[in-house]
Amino acid sequence: MKNAIFQTPVCQLKELNNLFIELTEKNCNQHCKHCYINFPLNKNIKDFISPDTVKSALNDTKNESIECIYLTGAEPMTHPDFNLILRTCLKRSNVCIFTNATFINEKKARFLKRVEDESSYEIIFKLSIDHYDEVKNDNIRGRGSYRQTIHAVKSLVKYGFNPILCITNYYKEDKKILIQELKKVCLKYGFNASDSNFTINLWHDKNSPEEILPDQKWESLDCEYGRILTTKGVYSCPFLANDHRGRCGSDFRDFARHNTLETSYCSTCINNKEKLFGINYKLFE
Ligand code: SF4
Repeated sequence: MKNAIFQTPVCQLKELNNLFIELTEKNCNQHCKHCYINFPLNKNIKDFISPDTVKSALNDTKNESIECIYLTGAEPMTHPDFNLILRTCLKRSNVCIFTNATFINEKKARFLKRVEDESSYEIIFKLSIDHYDEVKNDNIRGRGSYRQTIHAVKSLVKYGFNPILCITNYYKEDKKILIQELKKVCLKYGFNASDSNFTINLWHDKNSPEEILPDQKWESLDCEYGRILTTKGVYSCPFLANDHRGRCGSDFRDFARHNTLETSYCSTCINNKEKLFGINYKLFE
């Protein structure tokens, strides 16, 4: 007789290539409709990670083959010591900044170029934009956010950066058309973007969570190649940061290299086929 008990799939960390660092859990100047973070009503929350915690994590992972450190949040650029943490991380590897782009103007882009030039590594930007149509984008991200992202793109390109635009496919539209239309928008503002400048991810709808099906196979998951550090410890991925279901330990001296895929977030990851957070280097080959 077949065993009818559904066993939760287990995922093994293959290599710690991607080190995510959550600079703040709750601070963001935008409140997008599709965000997976539950924001507090009180805005005055001081939950920033300390530069010393970041330094210790870098030291504890010195024998790991980290290819990129990702600064995440809520909005990482709200951190009062953002520049210090960025410089510290750039001593170790390339750094990718996940941002809603509102803190980037020409002055900031010029400054960040100088910071990059001081290092032998690269700064990569993942900027949020959710639609090529301004009204549809601002309906999700808030009024004015489309123009802010476009301004950030223009500023970064002016100083020689090659930003990646991250689209959460909230309206469930055809990926090819989204890329095609966004390329036209970028070109209009002087940025000749290629396919590798876009990542389009499924929207994880908190209100209609999908189940993991028995025998569901996956192709590439963030938890196979990365871990996230927060003020509360180490977790399997940004989706499960500070969630007990993703807990891997209190620091990188001793952390779990396997995790169970038991949440509806995991289902979104599996269905997305590509990593949602880590850079897909295949596209750059
Ligand atoms: S949410 Fe995604 S990346 Fe995180 S543990 Fe589940 S499958 Fe892995």
